[in-house]
Amino acid sequence: MISADIVIVGAGPAGTSAAIHAAKSGVSSIVIDKAHFPRDKCCGDGLTALALRELELLGFEPPAEEQWQTINGIQIRSPNGREIRLQLPQGRGEYAAVVPRSVLDSQLVDLASSAGAEIRQGTVFKGITNKNDYTEVLIEGQESIKTRNLVAADGMWSPVRKSLGAAKQSYLGDWHAFRQYFTATGNRSRDLWVWFEPDLLPGYAWSFPLADGKVNVGFGVMRKENLKGRDLQEIWANLLDRPHIREVLGSTVPEGPYKAWPIPARLTSMLLHTGPALFVGDAAAAADPMTGEGIGQALETGRLAATAIAEGGTLKEIAKEYERSVRRSMHSDHRLARALNTALSHERITNASLKIINSSDWSRRHFARWMFEDYPRAVMLTPRRWNRASFPLTGSWK
Ligand SMILES: Cc1cc2nc3c(=O)[nH]c(=O)nc-3n(C[C@H](O)[C@H](O)[C@H](O)COP(=O)(O)OP(=O)(O)OC[C@H]3O[C@@H](n4cnc5c(N)ncnc54)[C@H](O)[C@@H]3O)c2cc1C
Repeated sequence: MISADIVIVGAGPAGTSAAIHAAKSGVSSIVIDKAHFPRDKCCGDGLTALALRELELLGFEPPAEEQWQTINGIQIRSPNGREIRLQLPQGRGEYAAVVPRSVLDSQLVDLASSAGAEIRQGTVFKGITNKNDYTEVLIEGQESIKTRNLVAADGMWSPVRKSLGAAKQSYLGDWHAFRQYFTATGNRSRDLWVWFEPDLLPGYAWSFPLADGKVNVGFGVMRKENLKGRDLQEIWANLLDRPHIREVLGSTVPEGPYKAWPIPARLTSMLLHTGPALFVGDAAAAADPMTGEGIGQALETGRLAATAIAEGGTLKEIAKEYERSVRRSMHSDHRLARALNTALSHERITNASLKIINSSDWSRRHFARWMFEDYPRAVMLTPRRWNRASFPLTGSWK
């Protein structure tokens, strides 16, 4: 039977990050993914400063200019119609970017492969069998793989979590989001837009500009009992006809179908490991509860899982170390984001907060960096993290 130190299920940002960091520590891995890359992933394609820093750590280089859109500023519209422009630092490296997931994930797969990981595309995880001192990973229509450590980077619906009986009954994610690519004629469509619409709070609509001239338009809302699938469809059907959105986008031509997908954002209450498996990325519900962004968190949890495995020890010790590092690096940020998200469900609070943010250059600049995760969300509340790494002076690739 083939064997590897780690089998990683899922070759998205979480799985490839785990594979690359493992390879850097001399740990072998086989990464399986049911998809063939390049593959699309329903996403806004936005990379925060956190995601960019994690990519830089992996040795990732931004792709060609026609695939990579650097973001220097953000246009926000508050629920009462006030428009705010936030500026990110200029000439000091990259703080935010937009890149299609088909491009990003494919490049990560290539990077993992050149780092030494074995990538098996079109390979479907079927289940696991626990033996005395190893685990057999069952693959659809192929030979099983023998391993000691399993990393579940298999997304929101994590088949690994299900096969281990660790999935939460009737859990459908915390956010629900729609997105579609368009060609747009509006002059202002080359900016990155976030619209805080009164009926979407706590949530928002966006238009993110892509380097090839298209835009990624979508909306995300918190899942609520009284918000049914057909309500979401209706919001989507009329979103582009809202006058202020139409004014920005101009006339639009769809470039492919719309897609909808949930976003899991409850890291602090999710089981992070069971048996031989460590859960990372969406499989660990690691997305930011306030914005729904999860690429940076996927890369970070992948790195933390690989580090814990590379440090060695029994499966229990590895699991404990992974959990400890996730708690230490991410829990306080996640909790604060969740609390702020609850506050932002009130229109008056959202308007008042945006008014304060717009009151000076200083507040606009720092809020932009905070919103794009240049600082850990709760850094001001966690003095143990007050060091240079938490307050970086430059962006990525500088
Ligand atoms: C509409 C929308 C917009 C979003 N916008 C943003 C954004 O702008 N910025 C941001 O940071 N985040 C955004 N997110 C969140 C982000 O997309 C996720 O958090 C991120 O993709 C998580 O990465 P991952 O590697 O954990 O999982 P994924 O990217 O979902 O990768 C999981 C992989 O597992 C594979 N897999 C699944 N089942 C199996 C199986 N049985 N066998 C083998 N392989 C399997 C899949 O093929 C897939 O490649 C958005 C999400 C949505 C839904």
